[in-house]
Amino acid sequence: MDLSEYIRNIENFPKSGIQFKDITPLLANKGASEYCLDKLLEMIGGEKIDKVVGIESRGFFFGTLLAQKLNAGFAPIRKPGKLPYKTLKEPYQLEYGIDALEIHEDAIKKGERVLLHDDVLATGGTAKAACKLIESLGGEIVQCNFLIELEFLKGRQKLQKQLVKSLLKY
Ligand code: 5GP
Repeated sequence: MDLSEYIRNIENFPKSGIQFKDITPLLANKGASEYCLDKLLEMIGGEKIDKVVGIESRGFFFGTLLAQKLNAGFAPIRKPGKLPYKTLKEPYQLEYGIDALEIHEDAIKKGERVLLHDDVLATGGTAKAACKLIESLGGEIVQCNFLIELEFLKGRQKLQKQLVKSLLKY
């Protein structure tokens, strides 16, 4: 199956000059979503994972499914002000602006083996901030796992310490 057939290009979203990869056609198709989940799991191999961390919001879709398949817990990383309990906060540079990410301070226990998942790796700023949050809590990042990597934006260069894997490369 060619998963790229289920990724839609949206020109000039969320602002002019950006070509957005829309994963909703993939989510809408049961067979394609199942195949995608299997392929994401294959990238993880037999690694033991204690917790999957998904990045708001599109990292939650496959992140929670991966956690169930891996027999692991799930923890969300969210935009500021969204998480109700005590949080750690990390500012970051986005492809289109500046923002910050937060995680609950009890989301990861020291020494837990963590899989970071998001839909898209673009410039890498988001994933780098997420890695900082996970490591601040004492998590050991086993892999940074993405559905899509926009290779021309060189996000991998910001994640040099990490094992980075992606299913579809553009
Ligand atoms: P980065 O920080 O790597 O530049 O941006 C990655 C973050 O922005 C991810 O959380 C991802 O969901 C979102 N993002 C950036 N570009 C795209 C895109 O083309 N499509 C989708 N679906 N998300 C994107």
